[in-house]
Amino acid sequence: MNTIEQMIQKKAYELGYEKCGIIPINKLSGYKEKLEERIKKVPESAQFYQTQQRLANPLEEYPWAKSVVVMTVPYGKYKIPEVVKDHVAKAYLFDVRIDANTEEYQHNRAMEKYMQDLGLQVVTNQKFGVVGMRWAALQAGLGIIRRNNFLYTQSGSWVHIEAWLIDREIELKETMDVPQCPKGCNRCMSACPTKSLSAPYTMTPTACISFLTTFGGRNLPQQPLSKNFGNCIYGCDICQDVCPMNKGKWKEVEEFPGLAELSSELTPENILNMDEDFYREKVQPKFFYLSPEELWKWKIDVLCYMRNNYKESYKTYIINSSNNENEKIREMADFIRKELNL
Ligand code: SF4
Ligand code: SF4
Repeated sequence: MNTIEQMIQKKAYELGYEKCGIIPINKLSGYKEKLEERIKKVPESAQFYQTQQRLANPLEEYPWAKSVVVMTVPYGKYKIPEVVKDHVAKAYLFDVRIDANTEEYQHNRAMEKYMQDLGLQVVTNQKFGVVGMRWAALQAGLGIIRRNNFLYTQSGSWVHIEAWLIDREIELKETMDVPQCPKGCNRCMSACPTKSLSAPYTMTPTACISFLTTFGGRNLPQQPLSKNFGNCIYGCDICQDVCPMNKGKWKEVEEFPGLAELSSELTPENILNMDEDFYREKVQPKFFYLSPEELWKWKIDVLCYMRNNYKESYKTYIINSSNNENEKIREMADFIRKELNL
């Protein structure tokens, strides 16, 4: 006869989850200390980590919670359309957390129903998490956190983490089966174009391209680091792409539902020409870190990309953007024109 924790784990494997562990909620207590340690190391990150405090103490919102069920979902099997390769971060392209058309999303719903049918009270937050996800996964033995701060399993760092709080105190740890970072390796740190990742496990979130091109992007025209964004338009994978522990982990064997069609609309030129209705209907629901009102930020990200990868055919797009109705877009375009003498 299986215990309830074994039944949960077995169901997770049947649904295709790679790893599944369960830990009592008190095993999360180290997360708060980690946040404080990070703020001490990089004081300018204090405001950013402030927003993570709710994840450090889930009992404030869910006083009934007793344990955390945490799982990994690999996404490295999907084909990356050429037009968005290295421009849009892969975790966002293959965001199974919110895309109801994917089998992974359906599995998340099925997993939740299974736990409810077992008589458990459960809660999750598919977009933003209910606990410090990487920390919970580490405590549950799902993998290790490497010097670039990402959680790695056998699938490399190309995994989404899903977690639920449940009202039963149980524990079932996974067997951790990945090696530590090679001694002396610092490839992720030396490849970081903005020096956001400045030392092992140490980063300045507000200097990270993934932050600055998505929810943190407020003022790219005045952001000197934007000159170092290279090929990135929305998000950045550089510190994961260069990592030897990710070598050979991306397989590209399956199409991601709807991505081939959508990605043809995500060329730099098409983003600059994109209208609000199309953005709200087709793009924003998938790339939710920018709100339905923030198409202008995508356009600024693209102008930044055009500046960093300038070619003659971009000239008209940049010049036309000087007449955009959005003040920030005009500011970015004027700034670039001055810089490039256009
Ligand atoms: S995601 Fe990019 S900018 Fe951010 S730490 Fe990694 S390499 Fe640096
Ligand atoms: S690049 Fe090297 S140091 Fe950085 S996470 Fe990968 S193995 Fe670790």
